Amino acid sequence: MFNPLSDRIIQTIAGALGRDALDDRPETLQEYGRDTSDLSANPEIVVRARETAQVEALLKLANEYRFPVTPRGAGSGLAGGSVPVCGGVLLSLTDMNRILAIDQHDLTADVQPGVITLGFRQEVRKQGLYYPPDPAGMELSTIGGNAATNAGGPACLKYGTTRDYVLGLEAVLPTGQRITTGTRTRKGVVGYNLTHLIVGSEGTLGVITGLTLKLIPHPPAVRGLAAAFTDLPAAMAAVHKVLTSGHLPSALEFMDHRSIKLVGDMLPFKVPGERPSLLIIETDGAEEQVDRDIELIAGLCRQMGATDLIMAGTEEERERVWGVRREISLRIHDNYPVYIPEDVVVPLGSIAAFVEGLPAFEDEYGFEVYAFGHAGDGNLHLNIVTTDRNNTDRFDEGITAILKKVVASRGTISGEHGIGLAKKPYMALELSADSLELQRSIKKVFDPNNVLNPNKLFPEA
Ligand SMILES: Cc1cc2nc3c(=O)[nH]c(=O)nc-3n(C[C@H](O)[C@H](O)[C@H](O)COP(=O)(O)OP(=O)(O)OC[C@H]3O[C@@H](n4cnc5c(N)ncnc54)[C@H](O)[C@@H]3O)c2cc1C
Repeated sequence: MFNPLSDRIIQTIAGALGRDALDDRPETLQEYGRDTSDLSANPEIVVRARETAQVEALLKLANEYRFPVTPRGAGSGLAGGSVPVCGGVLLSLTDMNRILAIDQHDLTADVQPGVITLGFRQEVRKQGLYYPPDPAGMELSTIGGNAATNAGGPACLKYGTTRDYVLGLEAVLPTGQRITTGTRTRKGVVGYNLTHLIVGSEGTLGVITGLTLKLIPHPPAVRGLAAAFTDLPAAMAAVHKVLTSGHLPSALEFMDHRSIKLVGDMLPFKVPGERPSLLIIETDGAEEQVDRDIELIAGLCRQMGATDLIMAGTEEERERVWGVRREISLRIHDNYPVYIPEDVVVPLGSIAAFVEGLPAFEDEYGFEVYAFGHAGDGNLHLNIVTTDRNNTDRFDEGITAILKKVVASRGTISGEHGIGLAKKPYMALELSADSLELQRSIKKVFDPNNVLNPNKLFPEA
């Protein structure tokens, strides 16, 4: 279906983009053939774009010579979305990494796609402004990659995901045509929302070459706490209480009993019970307001049975609490040779029952499941692990069973990480045949020759 990149095609690409944009060293091909999933496939060549015109030229050639192009940001994705599974060109956007403008009057920023998320957040903060999307990999990931995956983090609960901050895009369509979408304004309803369609399309509908982002005032103060509960249903009852008592925390995270066991040595108290749970709650806003809010939230947690509370009022104390949360993934990574990260979402009212039901899957399929994540928006990070590499025969079956339960609970199989390559066998668990067909048709309209990031998202028809 695709043509291999012959010397002639490579010379043509070099002629159009400049020889220095191309890299075919074996170590480069290997490095760019993987992301942070365990999937990999080497490209035939890596192209590092420095300007949009090169992306346009590349995609025009891709259509002319029928070779695939896979866009890549930092490669921090967890679903194999940037793995060039059909070979061809791996298009790296990391050299397009300039913040072009931070507009204090419009409260917007114009950036190139390769800007690193954390660096961008720090730059806008210097000007008293806030870019809320806070995916945990933000010290690695690019804004373009975040937009392509509609990344989110703990702040989603209060502030929404990346999509909510992308006002407009410059994108090169798979055919090589450059378009601009959206607005520079905070509202706009003219025509279909192509910005929101391309955001979250995981590099299958266009290469994002520029973004206009919405900024908001930086909240002056943040306060946090960690609260222990004897079991998850008690913790979730506290979540419900907080959310129905007039509070909208800026983070509301939970850890299950396995996660607590793994990192419990970092906590200043012993968490009681066989299957305890921990909540991390933060609130942001004006100083006097956050001081009052966090006290009220602490009171609600006590009222709902919290056995211990640590208040985290300063930056250092908050950092210590988040350190415990971050340590879970690191220790899972260190302790288990096999681990599969799922990031399902279930309705808020179903979190406790869903997590309490996981041991049945563990018994049946021979793995362990760590559950932690965003209690405030139902996005659960399920880390499916085993210490026995030779005991994974029933993993796929077990994961399918868990995902079916997610869908049956009226949830969704991915809240953040996306489908990419890793999750495409499961798409049909959630989407109807009609929905999949419509989505395939949209892909065809954008990409008639299927050259941009082919073989992603959709299960084989
Ligand atoms: C430790 C760790 C923690 C993480 N935590 C979170 C989290 O909390 N929340 C979350 O959402 N994700 C998380 N992730 C996943 C990952 O960081 C995000 O998916 C991120 O948005 C990927 O950005 P990237 O620049 O690395 O993109 P890549 O991994 O390079 O690419 C991801 C997808 O976007 C496409 N793409 C990249 N750039 C462009 C572009 N300019 N135009 C078009 N398509 C493009 C690729 O083709 C691919 O399909 C985490 C990852 C790690 C390693």
